[in-house]
Amino acid sequence: MEIHLSTPGLIYFDGKLIPSADARLHVSSVAVKYGSNVFEGLCTYRGVSGGSTVFRMHEHLQRLQESARMMQIDCDYSQDELADAVLSTVRGNNIEGDSHIRLSIFVVGDGFSETTGPASLVCIATPRGAKNLEERVKHASVSSWLRLDDRVAPPRIKAGANYHNSRFGVLEARRNGYDEALFLTFNGKVSEGGNSCFFMVKDGVLVTPPVTASILISITRQTLIELARDQGIEVQEREIDRSELYIADEAFLCGSGLEISPILSVDRFPVGDRSVGPVTHRLWDAYDSVIRGGDARYQRWLTPVYGQGQA
Ligand code: PMP
Repeated sequence: MEIHLSTPGLIYFDGKLIPSADARLHVSSVAVKYGSNVFEGLCTYRGVSGGSTVFRMHEHLQRLQESARMMQIDCDYSQDELADAVLSTVRGNNIEGDSHIRLSIFVVGDGFSETTGPASLVCIATPRGAKNLEERVKHASVSSWLRLDDRVAPPRIKAGANYHNSRFGVLEARRNGYDEALFLTFNGKVSEGGNSCFFMVKDGVLVTPPVTASILISITRQTLIELARDQGIEVQEREIDRSELYIADEAFLCGSGLEISPILSVDRFPVGDRSVGPVTHRLWDAYDSVIRGGDARYQRWLTPVYGQGQA
């Protein structure tokens, strides 16, 4: 069978860049059989004054280390090793502009679901273009599947197997004519989307579920909270009831790959007047400026791809 690979370039595999078609895992590996992997999705952006940077790389690398620790995968990749995997993949593929990077740790050994190693480090970089907010709007429904709960498997880490839960919710939403699923927690409060965190705006206040609402500890969520507060927008991290979704003024999803994606309706209830609202626009303008190095206050979040002597 001919399999189409969406990543034609070079893939980083255990310290080397190899052709995409050669980057294989064995069918008996625990990663293939049981989905035993942890990963990160990061982005590079072309800066407003040239150059390319990785956004919040160190926060992503730290979360990957924590995910691997929680999963008890036998590996001790340092921040430097992980950073080298990311930067050499981007450089090796001559990426100068925007791209999405997937950095994964797979359990490649044979065995059962509790097998802890050996592990492999893999990095894939895929160039992509920029989209404006209007191109990203979504219609969402509340999923009948609940979000994974910390008493079952920790949603706060980024483990591939957690996405089976996302799969059920998102496919249910699509079957029913929506774009995206909003999950509730075991306690019936709003949690997050299948691949993103959730924000809503009510009476000028930005509201998002707390980190204990079965969410992935999202780097974009944290970024937007900080940007909103720096702009004088009140932010509440608190439980959200389902019924609040139906009377929200604005709502959006966020994530590193997704960035900001406005939600125009939930279960066919219009959100606001069914157009992208002013707070969402304001946050997007702030975010877009920050990721492209347009705001000196947040330069600390940007790691140059081609550092000194690398250009
Ligand atoms: N929740 C889930 C389930 C996700 O997959 C993502 C995307 N990584 C997010 C939230 C957003 O996380 P981040 O902002 O760190 O990308």
